[in-house]
Amino acid sequence: MGFESLASELESRKKKHLYRKRRLLQSPQGTEVQLDNKHFLAFCNNDYLGLANHPDVVRAFQQATNECGVGGGASHLVNGHHQQHHLLEEELAEFTGRDRVLLFSNGYMANIGAVNALLSKGDLVLEDRLNHASLLDAGLLSGARFQRYQHANLESLSQYLSKPRAEDNRTLVVTDGVFSMDGDIPPLPDLANTCRENNAWLMVDDAHGFGTLGQNGGGCVEHFGLGQDDVQVLVGTLGKAFGTAGAFVAGSELLIETLIQNARTYIYTTSMPPAIAAATRVSLKRLQSEHWRRERLAELIKRFRTGAAQLGYELMDSASPIQPILIGSEEKALALAAWLEEHGVLITAIRPPTVPKGTARLRITICAEHTAQQVDRLLGLLDQARVQ
Ligand code: PMP
Repeated sequence: MGFESLASELESRKKKHLYRKRRLLQSPQGTEVQLDNKHFLAFCNNDYLGLANHPDVVRAFQQATNECGVGGGASHLVNGHHQQHHLLEEELAEFTGRDRVLLFSNGYMANIGAVNALLSKGDLVLEDRLNHASLLDAGLLSGARFQRYQHANLESLSQYLSKPRAEDNRTLVVTDGVFSMDGDIPPLPDLANTCRENNAWLMVDDAHGFGTLGQNGGGCVEHFGLGQDDVQVLVGTLGKAFGTAGAFVAGSELLIETLIQNARTYIYTTSMPPAIAAATRVSLKRLQSEHWRRERLAELIKRFRTGAAQLGYELMDSASPIQPILIGSEEKALALAAWLEEHGVLITAIRPPTVPKGTARLRITICAEHTAQQVDRLLGLLDQARVQ
């Protein structure tokens, strides 16, 4: 069999303005980057607190590499569970106020592993329809009955929860903490109450909330004051505000032991490099204690929102660093991204199937490392773009 059908599929993607392309980063990640031999002011990375290139974090990584080598060398359950992993798990448990934490190599695997360790055929998984792809994939893969409820909508969730269920079957409600393409936050205290009333567990993936939300960067659960009894399965990723790589699941002793026994994406993979864990321990300290990073971020977000709204752009209900501008058509979103790129500013156009049809957008992310002048430069270009 030839590959003609693949070629026509790719061609049709191109025609629909849905073709994805990679580009070559030739500088460190940051607010100013060198990409495909051009210099850009970037509003599209997730290093929200500017910790990825912090000298102390880099130094911790280098030192740990000297001491323990580059690779994890084996899976956690063979002999790849290093002292640095162990210490980071303990420090993250204290940070999140949970009994225990389990590290995963990335967020995608944490989500797949956690959902699949908890559910199987006969169970029920209810997901917000705008959940991150890894959560949706996790639910589908589990073999449990899979249902998506309307975005952040308690009534819609309750409808599914009120249907009769066998008593010994499990129900898991799954949501992003900060929605990755919209930047908004679901009504978590209400979701937690609804889950409690209906004998369901609540799982929150707070990939974008850790570091940016809560007084100490403890994410949406700190922001709302929710404990382990409210959100039983809490996921964080380390590749965003922590500035490193990897992910973790936080929860009760029983949850973590269950994941160690059952989570296939934990069991059957090489542990994250121990030096990443060592670097994350340093970034965790800064993320917690350097409140000025969150304050600066909040000021920049406000500056951007005020300016963009004055220009008449349609923003979303987001106080987070994710500040999409809603465009609608894929073609127009691509054209605006291309025009900004010609003028030296890099922003990704997000199109279906990542977002629902008709809601293509420019996904702007703001970081504490941006300056007010850089935000103003973006606003100036958005002003000019209106008349192009
Ligand atoms: N969850 C959410 C909400 C995300 O936005 C992402 C990354 N885009 C992930 C999980 C996956 O995390 P990782 O990049 O560590 O695989």
